[in-house]
Amino acid sequence: MSDYLEQAEQYRDDVTGFLREIIAIPSPSCEEADVARRIAAEMEDLGYDEVFSDPMGNVVGRIGDGKTKIVLDAHMDTVGVGDSSSWPHDPYEGKLTDGVVFGRGASDNKGAVASQVYGGKLIAGRGLDGADVTVYVVGTVMEEDCDGLALGYFLTETVTGVDAVVLGECTNLAVYRGHRGRMEISVQTRGTSAHASAPERGDNAVAAMAPVVLDVTELNERLADDAFLGRGTIAVTMIECETASLNAIPDSCTIYLDRRLTAGETLESALKEVASLGSAENAKVEVLDYARPAYTGLTLETEKYYPTWVLEPDHPLVAAGAAAGKAALGKTPEVDKWTFSTNGIASAGRLGIPTIGFGPSEERWAHSVLDQCPVDHLVASVAYYAALPAAIAGIGD
Ligand SMILES: [Zn+2]
Repeated sequence: MSDYLEQAEQYRDDVTGFLREIIAIPSPSCEEADVARRIAAEMEDLGYDEVFSDPMGNVVGRIGDGKTKIVLDAHMDTVGVGDSSSWPHDPYEGKLTDGVVFGRGASDNKGAVASQVYGGKLIAGRGLDGADVTVYVVGTVMEEDCDGLALGYFLTETVTGVDAVVLGECTNLAVYRGHRGRMEISVQTRGTSAHASAPERGDNAVAAMAPVVLDVTELNERLADDAFLGRGTIAVTMIECETASLNAIPDSCTIYLDRRLTAGETLESALKEVASLGSAENAKVEVLDYARPAYTGLTLETEKYYPTWVLEPDHPLVAAGAAAGKAALGKTPEVDKWTFSTNGIASAGRLGIPTIGFGPSEERWAHSVLDQCPVDHLVASVAYYAALPAAIAGIGD
């Protein structure tokens, strides 16, 4: 057993208890104040060099003051629970059974929050392994609502000049190096209202939308493919109309599209594909905006466009991520990609900062009623995060 893992084992109960505690503090997007306070208090207790929150509400713990700046990011917010009667247990209990912690956020992404906070403790205890680095452990807000918004704020307003970002999103203890991008698009058709007893007097906006829905569904079949990331996709996820009454011809209809972007696909190319559908000739095609206030009250308006990102397989950070796995866990981790989207759309996609991921638990549990994280993954992740400073030091040279 590596000495990283041996030392991480000493925190097995602490990191597990901490995860259960933060699961028990509900933290839907934009309502992370309570869990943020709890996480900051844990960092203070564990002897971080500095603990603070930024105006967005991200919690930041700093260790060291060296040249290479490394960010460990995990988001503090979770999705809701949906119908709580469909859960096999209380989603906010933080239930521990047979070495597995269950509850909302266990996999996505509080298991990583707990592991990174204790990884920081281990890093501080080891004196950064003598590496000339600064480590920031960051608990970000609002990832589930608008991925990248809060990490992007942190990397441009709170701490600049960061050399490497390691995301804690579930990787099942593999190293991930990218994922498809995504965007949210609206398409609106207009018509003319009239009494529904004489439809010919009006122009029905819902009827005008019908061929657009079919064409978008067909468009999905011919989107670009990529050997590593997979295909781009498009799907209609909602439809609504405006009408004066159930006895009137609707004069406006809007559909919403979820678009996943593979390598080479951009906001411009994706909008153009939809706008150039024959049926959408007279429709208005737009990317949606996001403008919800953070729990601190800060509002950042942004387009709901989350660019694709991939770090090359031979990039030094991918090699460092693999080396950390070997040093901490005794074997070189697999290298792969996420199916879902992460804060990497900001760090890598928008800002071009080298980014990889390593995290406890598996994507398949995220947002499900079986949301869970094995305790062994927490311990392995603590060891892994502690091995990063020595592996990453000097990467920007
Ligand atoms: Zn997540």
